[in-house]
Amino acid sequence: MGYKLGGWRNLADLFLADLFLKAECPLCQRPASTEPGHDCFCQDCQRQLYRCRLHQPSKFWQPPLPVLAWGEYGGTLKRSLAALKYHNQPQVARLLGRYLAEAWLDSPAIARSLAPPLIVVPIPLHANKQKQRGYNQAELIARAFCDRSRLPLVHGLRRDRATEAQFGLTPEERMQNLENAFCIDAHFKKRHATATVLLLDDIYTTGTTARSAVQVLRQGNISVGGILAVAKAVQHHG
Ligand SMILES: [Zn+2]
Repeated sequence: MGYKLGGWRNLADLFLADLFLKAECPLCQRPASTEPGHDCFCQDCQRQLYRCRLHQPSKFWQPPLPVLAWGEYGGTLKRSLAALKYHNQPQVARLLGRYLAEAWLDSPAIARSLAPPLIVVPIPLHANKQKQRGYNQAELIARAFCDRSRLPLVHGLRRDRATEAQFGLTPEERMQNLENAFCIDAHFKKRHATATVLLLDDIYTTGTTARSAVQVLRQGNISVGGILAVAKAVQHHG
């Protein structure tokens, strides 16, 4: 119910299977580890990646916009996300989605604090960008997350307006750039009127993208519990 998958899913899965056969670490091109649970990285890279995890993933789960993040944006995690987004390595999403699900399952108080049913909505890419990349990384991460967490994946948002890259814009320009970028999928409101949405994105930095999506959902009277992100930029003081 509500778990609608596009026809391209099978193609994407074939594509993933093909990449797995190559079994080359996407970060260093050495042979990937064959150990169970290592997915696609070599042992060294996976060890380094795991060091990027936040020891308290629920630390940022607080108003006005609660965020649950698996890791700190930087180092090997940053490189892994770049491989996923810019170097055509969609298999990276599987491990990152699973890590994020583990952070979620390790924080049961969050789920208890939200009104069921909970649904996971990935932040969409504009159709042109998705065509160019071949996939939406947030959606691939969401699939792995949902497999592990057993929460339903729902495509509730569309991104109709192409937006400029956010890089180099001031906070005001970022928000303006994203204004009306998202809209709620026509069937979504009818089917999931009472659900609590967990928005899922790969990275949470300034939060502008997430806030823009939250705003659209809330304007449509859809309840948003918070944001799930693989990586969060963390400010270190002192
Ligand atoms: Zn490696």
